[in-house]
Amino acid sequence: MISVSKALSIISEVSYTPKVKTVPLKGTNGLVLSKNIDSSIHMPPFRQSAMDGYALLLHDKNTYQIIGEVKAGDPDDYSLLPGQGVRIFTGARVPNNANTVVIQEKVIRSEDIITVHGEVNKNQNIRAIGEQIKKGDIALAKGTKLSPAGIGFLSGLGVNEVQVFTPPSVAIITTGNELIPPGQKLQEGKIYESNSLQLQSVLEQSKIKKINKYIVQDEYESTKETIRQAIINNDLVLISGGISVGDYDFVKEALSELRTEELFYKIKQKPGKPLFFGRNNKTLIFALPGNPASSLTCYYIYVIPVIQKMMGTITSLGLKRTMKSLTEDFVKKGDRAQFLKAKTSEESVEVLEGQSSAMLYSYAVADALVFIPENINQIDKNSLVETILLPQ
Ligand code: AMP
Ligand code: MG
Repeated sequence: MISVSKALSIISEVSYTPKVKTVPLKGTNGLVLSKNIDSSIHMPPFRQSAMDGYALLLHDKNTYQIIGEVKAGDPDDYSLLPGQGVRIFTGARVPNNANTVVIQEKVIRSEDIITVHGEVNKNQNIRAIGEQIKKGDIALAKGTKLSPAGIGFLSGLGVNEVQVFTPPSVAIITTGNELIPPGQKLQEGKIYESNSLQLQSVLEQSKIKKINKYIVQDEYESTKETIRQAIINNDLVLISGGISVGDYDFVKEALSELRTEELFYKIKQKPGKPLFFGRNNKTLIFALPGNPASSLTCYYIYVIPVIQKMMGTITSLGLKRTMKSLTEDFVKKGDRAQFLKAKTSEESVEVLEGQSSAMLYSYAVADALVFIPENINQIDKNSLVETILLPQ
């Protein structure tokens, strides 16, 4: 049995070479660039008016003759004489020899003559060519995680495809004779299977689309064969249940028989003690405890950083952590570290009722996990505790 910090350090050191692929920009939110993107244009590509008003070639008086109009999208270019100007709108191309844009609020117009009030400076309200980025400069560097703004920025540079680290294909193997799918009539001794859809949902939150689901009974041969198939066909295998020490838990034995390298098994923590992490050829494997809350907590704490790595993230692996003050005293029994389902408010965090590893009702309203280290057994109200924020 190893500590939480040892398990996390093994995970941070696991090596994996992510695959790369060129894909349409559409749909890349959350993916990581595997190559720098250089801008193929200046942005803005022409001198652009930042306001609605008048583009002028300044002279020493405050009256100007307006000789035309340029609206956004017009290619026209006017050649102005000193004292002349054009009506102009936001985003429109400023005539080549205009040297300022005056906002319309500062102008009184009469026919084609305007009178400008207040001070006017050269180059005001004009966005210079390449002001945001110059042709050939790096727009976004390799390793950048694409966001809606990043996708907007690249679209604005005319980019419509990018090279990204491709999300892994993931197998979810559900074990357990007692499980029946939701939608069917519940029979004596059975329960509804909930881990696979729960895992699928968190995987989808991690932008994983290739998910292959397998179901096996608590039977050695079929467990082994299913795991073998899943390893061959996937980059990451998540097994739910059957990893504990019961007579009908066959996952550990099957993994060994398939010559899986064990990276760790069993963590001094609650919930999720019997977590297994290993590698078989290039495929990484987690065997998650079957209890629904354990399985989800193990996903949040250990699977997420591995998935982030597999998707090209190098630094700041794992969920965001912050310190918040505890709303009530907390007493921990035993010497295992704990991850407690919790609900945050602005400054504080409340540990919820129903911490059992089989219970999901509190998890369903939790937005964080409070981490209580191994060596701490009592925490007083208002003390700061490490709070792991769950993805929304
Ligand atoms: P196991 O890790 O297989 O010993 O399972 C531990 C507990 O979790 C048992 O009470 C199982 O019935 C329950 N369990 C295992 N797999 C699932 C699942 N996919 N959905 C819901 N409960 C499960
Ligand atoms: Mg089981």
